[in-house]
Amino acid sequence: MQKRRKKKIALQVFELAVLLLLVTLLVSWHGSPLWIWIREWRSGIFVHELETNDRVIALTFDDGPDPVCTPTILDILRQEGVHATFFVEGRMLERYPDIARKELADGHVLGNHTFSHPYLERKSRGEVQNEIGLCDKSLTRILHVKTSLFRPPRGNWNPIITQEARRAGKQIILWSGAVEHQESTTPNQLVDRALRLSHPGAILLLHDGSYGQRVNTVKALPGIIQELKSRGYHFVTIP
Ligand SMILES: [Zn+2]
Repeated sequence: MQKRRKKKIALQVFELAVLLLLVTLLVSWHGSPLWIWIREWRSGIFVHELETNDRVIALTFDDGPDPVCTPTILDILRQEGVHATFFVEGRMLERYPDIARKELADGHVLGNHTFSHPYLERKSRGEVQNEIGLCDKSLTRILHVKTSLFRPPRGNWNPIITQEARRAGKQIILWSGAVEHQESTTPNQLVDRALRLSHPGAILLLHDGSYGQRVNTVKALPGIIQELKSRGYHFVTIP
């Protein structure tokens, strides 16, 4: 009898703990109520792929302009007659304005990827505003470009980021497939991975900048474009 009672109390304590956990989750997750996360997630501000059944692919390049990789990538894109979307960092734009001018002159589209590529999801509302605003300012001052495209660093977001992106008149452009991957270390593996990730309307994530690690991306790019072309795909920028 005593044992049964103890068991019953233990069960009640467990139920109470689960209930408390659920309430805590509902009330706040990283500072925002869970329902706000859900509302933001469902708000339509995110773009993961293009809405089309046509065989089109959007190539996107993040973290440039980079003095080593970007010029070669631009050469390849020009040779192949392909236009892409570059999500630039404001600080890189300030450092390498001529490369960014070339991107624009070649007919590519530029989007906002913050000023200094921080862990934006850990920043205050004011800092988030600043990061988006400063990159916009660089784009306007150096290139006379106004963009509605915003890609948060690493694709990470929270309700503050979505709210501030919306306030700045942005859509948050994520991706349907990330081509670079730690298990795809050779250019051929990158080509295979890009083909696996491709489907009508796919947005492919690549990088032209950060830490000079993009040699394999540059080497793989002609193969990625040619293989996709041979499968009937053509390339578009993010509208
Ligand atoms: Zn990035």
